[in-house]
Amino acid sequence: MIVVMSRSATEENLKNVEKRIESFGLKCHLSVGEQRTIVGVIGDKKKIGELEMGAMEGVEKTVRITEKYKLVSREFKPENTVVDVRGVKIGGEELAVIAGPCSVESREQLRETAEAVKNAGAQFLRGGAFKPRTSPYDFQGLAEEGLKLLREIGDEYDLRVVTEIVDVNDVELVSKYADVLQIGARNMQNFRLLQAVGKGNKPVLLKRGLAATISEWLNAAEYIMSEGNDDVIFCERGIRTYETFTRNTLDLSAVVAIKEQSHLPIIVDPSHGTGRWQMVQPMARAAIAAGADGLIVEVHPHPEVALSDGDQSLKPKHFKAMMEDVKKIASAMGRK
Ligand code: PEP
Ligand code: MN
Repeated sequence: MIVVMSRSATEENLKNVEKRIESFGLKCHLSVGEQRTIVGVIGDKKKIGELEMGAMEGVEKTVRITEKYKLVSREFKPENTVVDVRGVKIGGEELAVIAGPCSVESREQLRETAEAVKNAGAQFLRGGAFKPRTSPYDFQGLAEEGLKLLREIGDEYDLRVVTEIVDVNDVELVSKYADVLQIGARNMQNFRLLQAVGKGNKPVLLKRGLAATISEWLNAAEYIMSEGNDDVIFCERGIRTYETFTRNTLDLSAVVAIKEQSHLPIIVDPSHGTGRWQMVQPMARAAIAAGADGLIVEVHPHPEVALSDGDQSLKPKHFKAMMEDVKKIASAMGRK
């Protein structure tokens, strides 16, 4: 349930509403908008059913939400959420571009990539230090050594750092080095991990599961928000279909669906979404035209020797060309 406060509601009205909700053993989650404040009621469904708030002073209306996700929903917060990553915004007028190698391999590899993506206009450096590989015999990542390199090179080029977390016990470790924690497709429904990053204080990039519906994905974000972390960014990275020409089928309609259902920002990953570097630039253009708030793209100085995902990694010159294209689409869309 959400409680919509009237425009004229006072601080005291709001306090009374919160008190009443808490007296039922339920939790409040405030969304303070420009026009009005909305209180999300979370907890036991049965208790919420017993809660009557409509007659309280300062309450305009209560809305029973039939969908299981509330805090992520547009009903709860009509305005777009802008996630602030140490001064760099995701979900605002300016597009957010995250770029870098699939895996951190060495200082030289990361530095060469960082320099190229920074010059081309990216604001974020990506790179995996813990790699959830399909085969246990494939490169598993440099672990903490990789995190240290990301922080070092990120700072050197004034790029915010995005990296994947795969273990509930690593929240503190990864948060020490990264600016944004990425939840990978394979972990989208790892509910303990979602709760752990929800209790943390870093923005979370939530990738769509390999076969997740929009509703399951929204619920995954609800797991994070319900623990108190409001800074969630969705990432469409393709879903598994019968098609094998591409690695995944990039579902750009998800951008529209998420924008309709949620106030949270959404970016697109055309690298994993297609698995082929030649398709990255056209799909990046399409993603921005569909209304995405940004992109995450794999870039490697020498894709032919990459330890993971070389086939879908752009060379720096191709990333630069992609950025030039994307800028044109952005301006046509009224964005920067
Ligand atoms: C990645 O970003 O390198 C990655 C493993 O992505 P996904 O979880 O979308 O497969
Ligand atoms: Mn990858």
